[in-house]
Amino acid sequence: MKAPKLYIVVPCYNEQEVLPLTAPLFREELERLAAAGKIDPDSRVLFVNDGSRDGTWEIIQDLSRQDPHFQGLCLSRNRGHQNALLCGLMESRECCDITISIDCDGQDDIRAMDRMVDEYLAGAEIVYGVRSSRETDTFFKRFTAQSFYRLLNWMGADTVYNHADYRLVSARALKEFANFREVNIFLRGMFPLVGFKSTSVYYERSERLAGKSHYPLKKMLALAFDGITSLSVKPIRIITGVGIFVSCVAFVLILYALIAWIAGRAVAGWASTLIAVAFLGGIQLISLGVLGEYIGKIFLETKRRPRYIVSERTDGAAPAAGDREAEEE
Ligand code: UDP
Ligand code: MG
Repeated sequence: MKAPKLYIVVPCYNEQEVLPLTAPLFREELERLAAAGKIDPDSRVLFVNDGSRDGTWEIIQDLSRQDPHFQGLCLSRNRGHQNALLCGLMESRECCDITISIDCDGQDDIRAMDRMVDEYLAGAEIVYGVRSSRETDTFFKRFTAQSFYRLLNWMGADTVYNHADYRLVSARALKEFANFREVNIFLRGMFPLVGFKSTSVYYERSERLAGKSHYPLKKMLALAFDGITSLSVKPIRIITGVGIFVSCVAFVLILYALIAWIAGRAVAGWASTLIAVAFLGGIQLISLGVLGEYIGKIFLETKRRPRYIVSERTDGAAPAAGDREAEEE
């Protein structure tokens, strides 16, 4: 069997400090894997510049001029980590046999790619990189992230615990994945839906080599909320449950009021009425909010906007899908 061609897909947003440190590490890993005969020597590192405002794109262009193993795509504006990653995966899937997505900050152990490729060679189409410990994360990050995975699973979304976006996916699985047309994407929760043989590889997560995190609490909460509402309809069910419960309580209250009235003890129940009205009003508002969230998602999905737009490419980076079709005709 011919060794598979690997594309390492790396989204980068304002990473001028860390990119010069990690780019050689990705390159080394390609060399090591190729020397071991596990991958084709023609494999590539594909950087996706997610509308950075600093010198990231210039660094990527320099790298690709010096070494054709480095390639770059530049998005027309910042579209967020998930969209940048999707762009890299979709653009590379027709030029390679396997992709590995990884952050560019060196937090994920690049050496784990060895084991990922081994698993692929042993037959897996998707290999999840799973953090075996989170000691280097702050207590806050660890706590919020782990609560998030638990919540997601409880909500019925089939995610891999402690797996972020460090993952090997074969071109075959990506071809099927391309048929998932949604705009609200939460990749780590969507790949399990693709199916195929999959497995996990464990690694230690370390600290960022340089630069700082782009996931402050606000973005993390947005990602969590997106993950839940993109993958699960359980919140709607919970509302129904709460609605039934509140209605039961209200029924008991009504009975109580009636009996009090019959017994002639009906002191104008101003406070209790007000509480009941406020309580119900609150529940209704929350329900409307969550329903609105889903309707908002339907709204976005029906627009079918492009999920990313490439504005520039380094020489040798894959031609756009549109160009490719034109060439084939
Ligand atoms: N990233 C991106 N677009 C964004 C934010 C982040 O492409 O809008 C990239 C970033 O360059 C990095 C990866 O996503 O390669 C993960 O981001 P970061 O390391 O800041 O997140 P953390 O590891 O702290 O969760
Ligand atoms: Mg990081």
